[in-house]
Amino acid sequence: MKLYNTLTRNKEEFKPIGKEVGIYSCGPTVYNFPHVGNLRAFLFADLLKRCLLFKGFKIKHVMNVTDIDDKLIKKSEGDKEKLKEITIKYERAFKKNLEELNIIPADFYPRATESIKEMVEIVKKLLERGYAYKTSDGIYYSVKKFKDYGKLAGINLDNLKEGARVNNDEYDKESAKDFALWKFWQEEDGNIFWETEIGKGRPGWHIECSAMSSKYLGEHFDIHTGGIDLLFPHHTNELAQSEAANGKKFVNYWLHNEHLMINGEKMSKSLGNFYVLSDLVNKGFSLNAIRYLLISTHYRQKLNLTDETLKASEEAVKRILEFIANAKNREDNEKIISLIKETKKAIEKAIDDDLNIALVLSSIFKFIREANKLGAGKKAYELVIKTNEILGLSLEKEKIEIPEEVSQLVEEREKARKNKDWKKSDDLREEIKKLGFILDDAKDGVRVRKI
Ligand code: AMP
Ligand code: ZN
Repeated sequence: MKLYNTLTRNKEEFKPIGKEVGIYSCGPTVYNFPHVGNLRAFLFADLLKRCLLFKGFKIKHVMNVTDIDDKLIKKSEGDKEKLKEITIKYERAFKKNLEELNIIPADFYPRATESIKEMVEIVKKLLERGYAYKTSDGIYYSVKKFKDYGKLAGINLDNLKEGARVNNDEYDKESAKDFALWKFWQEEDGNIFWETEIGKGRPGWHIECSAMSSKYLGEHFDIHTGGIDLLFPHHTNELAQSEAANGKKFVNYWLHNEHLMINGEKMSKSLGNFYVLSDLVNKGFSLNAIRYLLISTHYRQKLNLTDETLKASEEAVKRILEFIANAKNREDNEKIISLIKETKKAIEKAIDDDLNIALVLSSIFKFIREANKLGAGKKAYELVIKTNEILGLSLEKEKIEIPEEVSQLVEEREKARKNKDWKKSDDLREEIKKLGFILDDAKDGVRVRKI
């Protein structure tokens, strides 16, 4: 199985370190409801997991919850109680979204505020090893001390200004600067601080992921995921912190998803061009269709969210659900059996090529088209169900139920057709249509579709 590694800018054969694949994903900042751009990042991690599981790997997945940063302190006006109220509210909303989109839960969702001890340990190590220094307002990482600084994002240190430092969590994406590991308490922080060996204060943003990843996955693990916007400075700084503190390689494969776009711009809170999940549901789109759209474009390509792409996804999902609803409990003929083999191979090959989901989808739709013609049975049904382990559509929530009344009318119509009673057959078709279903006559019988 090949995965595109941002670190080497190559598709590389995936080889896990141990028996379980360790995956760390940068999770949400629980400052607001996640927008569907954020959800694309979480769905990408889910797709990766589903493909690894499909291939038989075991997984240990950690996703952090950022429940402290500059914006959150501002929003909670320096009040720890209020901070907790806000972050719990949005953490719940985030987890509800994961459930709604049928995302396999991570094994651990550690919160930054509950991992302060581990962060302090890393800062201490960095001070001891000469990678960090103290100023009046905090403890900073000295980027020029780390030989490979910027290798992940291809950032050049030539323009590094002596003594250029940043204290805020978000900063300009062009140049490298020393960044805060620990920020000493200041008045605006109110009662939000921790009394620690390295001083009274709170962590910088990046240190939390160095601490929480090694806490659960060890100092060296397999895969790190996140949106492409995190490449610099966040992941660059995470890597610099962890490798400098531990003196060993941090992550083998760095995987980044491209952005969800809207009208040609990145969907983001700051641009105000975002939808949350319930906005799309209120527009009448199903959760399956939303999920489908967000995974159906290769994760390293930008994806545009429009009503048209959502509608097309709705249709695609319907085709899969209809195939399942019409599946017949019978043996498959030889032609189908060989088509199943061919399709299975094509799907595995697609996954192995850096999770080529577009190819998975075109293979399964081609299969459904052909199988409808050839007369599908149990094994054809099983192939679609198995493929859905990758797609992750909820087959239960939006299951197409064919009512008993409709099934009976279909049977009656089949009889009429056998007796060449075309008038009765047409009347029955009309009656079925009134109940909201269309019939497709095929060689092997009839299939029912919802209008
Ligand atoms: P945040 O809650 O802002 O920390 O972001 C959570 C995740 O969403 C991160 O992995 C981001 O890189 C990712 N992300 C943010 N905006 C987008 C977007 N428009 N498309 C895809 N991923 C995004
Ligand atoms: Zn992170």
